[in-house]
Amino acid sequence: MLSDNDRIFTNLYGMNDRSLKGAQRRGHWDETGRLMKKGRDWIIDEIKASGLRGRGGAGFPTGLKWSFMPKESDGRPSYLVINADESEPGTCKDREIMRHDPHTLIEGCLMAAFAMGANSGYIYIRGEFIRERETLQNAIDEAYEAGLLGNNAAKSGWDFDLYLHHGAGAYICGEETALLESLEGKKGMPRMKPPFPAGAGLYGCPTTVNNVESIAVVPTILRRGSGWFKSFGRENNAGTKLFAISGHVNNPCVVEEAMSIPLRELLDRHCGGVRGGWKNLKAVIPGGSSVPCLSGENCEDVIMDFDYLRDQRSGLGTAAVIVMDQSTDIIKAIWRLSKFYKHESCGQCTPCREGTGWMMRVMERLVNGSAKVEEIDMLLDVTKQVEGHTICALGDAAAWPIQGLIRNFRDEIEDRIKAKDSLSSGIAAE
Ligand code: SF4
Repeated sequence: MLSDNDRIFTNLYGMNDRSLKGAQRRGHWDETGRLMKKGRDWIIDEIKASGLRGRGGAGFPTGLKWSFMPKESDGRPSYLVINADESEPGTCKDREIMRHDPHTLIEGCLMAAFAMGANSGYIYIRGEFIRERETLQNAIDEAYEAGLLGNNAAKSGWDFDLYLHHGAGAYICGEETALLESLEGKKGMPRMKPPFPAGAGLYGCPTTVNNVESIAVVPTILRRGSGWFKSFGRENNAGTKLFAISGHVNNPCVVEEAMSIPLRELLDRHCGGVRGGWKNLKAVIPGGSSVPCLSGENCEDVIMDFDYLRDQRSGLGTAAVIVMDQSTDIIKAIWRLSKFYKHESCGQCTPCREGTGWMMRVMERLVNGSAKVEEIDMLLDVTKQVEGHTICALGDAAAWPIQGLIRNFRDEIEDRIKAKDSLSSGIAAE
């Protein structure tokens, strides 16, 4: 179990003072300028050495991503953009950072921006996060007043301005290029890649988009050293991580734990276990709504990290763990996700625009048992045609939950269809 001394987020539950003074008492903003004076390359090398992988879902190595930014400007400014859209269903970890520990993020923005040669940063926060936005803006104002942002920020010799911008509640604006479009004042629609944002991002300038948690952990990594961060978790899955556990556990919570913690330990230790006991577990979605579910029977040995869950044909995603007990109608639960993705598709590409609606309608028939058994394979086939054939990952996000359902609960789907069939033929015979 992660000890309190090793927790990066020391005010996750809002029990302490979230103001600048409170944050400083807990060790944030300590020697920020001195660390930055070690240079851009030192920061990037430390983050690479720490093994930090992006906390927004994709798990791409953060230091490597930063190194794609130009070393020398060609005349265009560079930008850091923070993805604080957090709209993946089940995910509520960045919210806790922003409302209770906002200075971890602001300090991280300064250090990351400096490492990438950016004098301006934008935090794109989802529209529904009204209180979080107020808290974050207060914290930004405090940092400006204390000389931690603006000219010669934190006496580092680097000028850095940070702006908070709020979205209007579209899921797709959590996709980095749609986010940039929205930030530019346009409709939030994903862009074709390449060019990637590091080459042409915000206003056509070099840009890195990072998740809130990825940036908020940076100052502590730099203060305590990459070796400390790397000491948690398995090889290639380093660090501490915020897990957001919801659903059928006794005490749903957001908790910071070491990466690679066994799922069962996570649920038993922090959430009071599965409602009705471990044997009552039916399924777990381990990484936010877009990753395939795991059946409860296969969860005994599950380890919560990127590589283990990928090998199980699921994913760590945002580490939003959705727990479902035996009372769950799993077919209906996945149908609800299909409905969500259909609603959130931006409609730009055909497989997603048409496919999400088509899949949702078949899912509807699976829920009430009125589909034919052959349609299960047809549906699976359509998910494969959507997956990987769209501009952005929403197509995959719509396909994967259904694939997980069919892989793990095919019997239940077939039983429902057969039960409905025999009921109808019984009625017909009468
Ligand atoms: Fe839009 Fe869906 Fe295509 Fe993404 S995959 S660009 S959400 S239509």
